[in-house]
Amino acid sequence: MFASVNSDCTGCASCEAICPEVFRMNSFGLAEAYINPVPQGAERLTKDAANSCPVAAITLE
Ligand code: SF4
Repeated sequence: MFASVNSDCTGCASCEAICPEVFRMNSFGLAEAYINPVPQGAERLTKDAANSCPVAAITLE
């Protein structure tokens, strides 16, 4: 699984709080997926983070 964050991100930091193994806030205050492919053990929380994003800015493939 690959995770990406698009430009709709508002910087709420929810994804980082849910799955810090994959998401972190960058120097612009926006989220980035910094480990790809997503580690197998983090897939469930990565999906939870994507589903919790208030602006649906996270894409999983
Ligand atoms: S949950 Fe969505 S809007 Fe919030 S920081 Fe993550 S990608 Fe951005």
